[in-house]
Amino acid sequence: MIVAMQEKATEEEIYAVIEAMEEAGVDVHRTTGTTQTILAGVGSTASLDLSKFEVFPGVLHVHRISAPYKLAGRAWRPEGTVVEFANGATIGGEKVAIIAGPCAIENRQQIFAIAACVQGAGGGFLRGGAFKPRSSPYSFQGLGIAGLELMREAADAHGLLTVSEVMEIAQIEAMLPYVDCFQVGARNMQNFNLLRELGQVRKPILLKRGIAATIEELLLSSEYILSGGNYDVILCERGIRTYETATRNTMDIAAIPVVKKLSHLPIVADPSHGTGRRDMVPAMAKAAVAAGADALLIEIHPNADKAASDAAQTLFHDQFEKLVEELRAIAAAVGRTL
Ligand code: PEP
Ligand code: MN
Repeated sequence: MIVAMQEKATEEEIYAVIEAMEEAGVDVHRTTGTTQTILAGVGSTASLDLSKFEVFPGVLHVHRISAPYKLAGRAWRPEGTVVEFANGATIGGEKVAIIAGPCAIENRQQIFAIAACVQGAGGGFLRGGAFKPRSSPYSFQGLGIAGLELMREAADAHGLLTVSEVMEIAQIEAMLPYVDCFQVGARNMQNFNLLRELGQVRKPILLKRGIAATIEELLLSSEYILSGGNYDVILCERGIRTYETATRNTMDIAAIPVVKKLSHLPIVADPSHGTGRRDMVPAMAKAAVAAGADALLIEIHPNADKAASDAAQTLFHDQFEKLVEELRAIAAAVGRTL
């Protein structure tokens, strides 16, 4: 940590800060310039609340120079994490994974048609919501376990792995037989009790970025899962809320290279929620692969405009198939396969 003192800071003020830093277990190295004193703190500052130093009289700025997360940091696994699934599929390796499916599982016919489409396009993961976090309590809330049973059957019939959102701790055990990967939705990114519990699970977790979360907060949330011993965490950029209203969310493509630099965890891009608009999903999917995304999460449905949830951002099957073909060229251009 670095504490920059104000030019007019007195010796007493400087000394009070040094004392507080030392009390917090930090070694202090002082540099006195012609106009300003700088205090460099060395030691384990990850668990320190640095803002408490900011309010000391005479302090100008306090900066963190080491990341507040440890296990999620790139330094912990410089070579990068490749999440491996039971059937040999991976996320985080050379191959860009395709995770596709309906926002919500609606019925047998729908999920089987979608599974056939995902398999036909060369995708490896069928994703469908059974417990849906809807903004309105009057909107379709999902089929629950009955929906997961249908998705499991459809996935097995087509050699696919399954991904579905878990909304609360009580659902974890019941979902285990049906899902190969648990999704934590944007609204639950900071449900720390749920994250801790998922740290005990031995299945991969796809952790979506919160609606208004910083990248650092996303990485700190992943740390809750990693610190429980579950190292198979896949991060997901799904757009954040900004002042822009032209798209449902603002797809933060830059988050992909930022995460790659800061963390070893694979990152998935979700251009469906990232834009909220079917006509913009292909462009953002291509941009995400070009930017280094390890997988794409795309909402598809045979009758996309009649989907029970997120219809406007859902691709028709032919649009999805065309997109996957186009993505192969982008992946090859950045040294990946698809
Ligand atoms: C979803 O994936 O369908 C979903 C609800 O996403 P998010 O949590 O990103 O809003
Ligand atoms: Mn959705």
